[in-house]
Amino acid sequence: MRIVLLGAPGCGKGTQAKKLMADKNIPQISTGDMLREAVAHGTRFGQQAKLTIDSGNLVPDEVVLGIISERLRRPDAADGFILDGFPRTERQALDLEELLDQLETPLDAAVLLDIDFEILMKRLTGRRTCSLTGQLLNIHFSSQEELDACTNAGGELIQREDDNEKTITSRLDVYHARTEPLIEFFSSRGQLKIVDAVGSVDEVYERLLEALQEG
Ligand code: AMP
Repeated sequence: MRIVLLGAPGCGKGTQAKKLMADKNIPQISTGDMLREAVAHGTRFGQQAKLTIDSGNLVPDEVVLGIISERLRRPDAADGFILDGFPRTERQALDLEELLDQLETPLDAAVLLDIDFEILMKRLTGRRTCSLTGQLLNIHFSSQEELDACTNAGGELIQREDDNEKTITSRLDVYHARTEPLIEFFSSRGQLKIVDAVGSVDEVYERLLEALQEG
C-alpha cells in the first residue's frame, strides 16, 4: 500500500498514519518528523530549518524532495509507505509523481482527512506528546486517565514549539494557499479519497480503512 495522507495541520494525519503503520507494517514517512530530527541534531541545516518551521512557513521544495527521494529508496519502503505531510506544494506533488514513476511504484491513493477549520485550532493548541512513550495526546480531547498515565509514570506532556497560536494561524494560511490545491491535483488523477476526520481516533481510522478498501 502506497498512500499520501493529505489534510490541514491538526487534521490527525500523524495519529492515523501511526495506526496504519502498526497495522500494515509499512513505514510512516513524515517530512515534519524528519525535519524536527535534523533540528534536534543542531546541524547548520537543522538551524535553518528551525527558523522556517517556527515561522509556520514551508521549507524549500528542493530540501524536502531530497529527503523524500533518499527515504523512499530505503529497503523498508519497498513494500509500501504512508506519506504524512508530503507533498505540500504542487511542485512536490509533480516531483513525487516522477520519482514514483522512476521507481515503478505508483501511488494507490491520496486520502484527504477532511475537517472543519474551527476544530483544527483546538486540536493544534491542545496537542501534546508524552515524553516517555511518544504517544500523541490532547489536553482538550484525551481522557484525564490517558494524560495522567503519562505524567504519573514520570513523563512530561510536551507541546511542539510551532503549536502556538501565531504559528498555527500562519500554518493554516500556508495550507490554504499552497497545499489545498493538491486536492484538485489528486482528484484529476483519479487518486483522491475523502475521509470525514471529525470523530474519535478509532472512528476516523475505521473510515480510513474503508476508504482504502474501496480500491
Ligand atoms: P508537520 O509536522 O507536517 O506539521 O510539519 C511541520 C513543519 O515542517 C511545517 O510547518 C513546515 O515548516 C515543515 N515541513 C514539513 N513537511 C514539509 C513539506 N513537505 N514541505 C515543506 N515544509 C515542510
